[in-house]
Amino acid sequence: MRIPCPFCGSRDAHEFSYLGDATPRRPDPAAPGAEAAFFDYVYLRDNPAGAFEEWWYHAAGCRQWLKVARDTRTHAITGAVLARDVAAPAAPTPAGGETAR
Ligand SMILES: [Zn+2]
Repeated sequence: MRIPCPFCGSRDAHEFSYLGDATPRRPDPAAPGAEAAFFDYVYLRDNPAGAFEEWWYHAAGCRQWLKVARDTRTHAITGAVLARDVAAPAAPTPAGGETAR
């Protein structure tokens, strides 16, 4: 399998380290049911057959984290972007509505 690194071009997957699913988002600790949401976030992962987004680290190359779109049935990669270019999810608003400055 070859992964298209935005900096290095198409490289063998052996140059990368796999982290896993790129879709889980850290739950709001102040939300009702936060304990169950954190259990799901930390321990439970899906194992889909088909399109999947996952984190890969180019350890033997540019040392950048990538978000790779891959089909888990065929290993066909449809895209890879730098993790730093992926929009971060909005941080939960602290209880009381105050925002950090
Ligand atoms: Zn690279």
